[in-house]
Order: sequence, then structure tokens, then C-alpha cells
Amino acid sequence: MNQAELQKRRQRLLDDRRRLESEVQQIDQARAEHLQPPGEISNVRTHPADQDAEGLAEQVVAVETLRGEMRSIDDALARIGDGSYGICKRCGKHIASERLEAIPHAGLCVRCEQAEEDR
Ligand SMILES: [Zn+2]
Repeated sequence: MNQAELQKRRQRLLDDRRRLESEVQQIDQARAEHLQPPGEISNVRTHPADQDAEGLAEQVVAVETLRGEMRSIDDALARIGDGSYGICKRCGKHIASERLEAIPHAGLCVRCEQAEEDR
């Protein structure tokens, strides 16, 4: 992969990261408002408690997923920095460029990814 391509990937990873970060912030903000509702909450019973708990659990899972993706992106950015980007972390072979096009933060080649999933 040449320098221009790497720069392009890096930019895309940074854009993705920013997007994920703002999504996390939005969810965090919604949760904060939910946990500390302004005004007289005791009179407002529009949401049954169990429904709230479910929604909250979903948000937690969503945030965890987003944070996991952000970690993968950070990892990919670090690998761009040390020159190991695009090389499979497991078998050391080059990751197909179509795969990196689809998933810029991929750290494993298709074969190793599948092997990991099969475990
Ligand atoms: Zn591999």
C-alpha cells in the first residue's frame, strides 16, 4: 500500500472515529437526561419501569459496541503509525484491499477472522 492510500485510509478511520464518538456522546447525553430528569419526575409516569430498564440496557450495549469499534479504529491508526497496517495480526499476510475498503479497521485477514469466529 502506498503512502497516498495509507493517508486516505487514515482519514477515513479518523472520520469514522469522530462519527462513533458523537454517537456515544449522544447516547450518554440521553442517558444522563434520563437518569436526572429535569423537573417533577414523580408526577410523570409515561414510561413503565420495565420498559425503561430495557431501553437502558440497549443503550449500554450500543455504547459498548461503539466503544469496541473505536478501540479497533485506534488500533488500526496505531498500526498505520508503526507500518503494520494492512498486515494480518494472526498470520502476517497482507489483508485483501477489498476487505480494507469495506472494513478499514480490519486487523485480520478473512481466513483468520473466520478461524477466530469458529473458535
Ligand atoms: Zn491472517
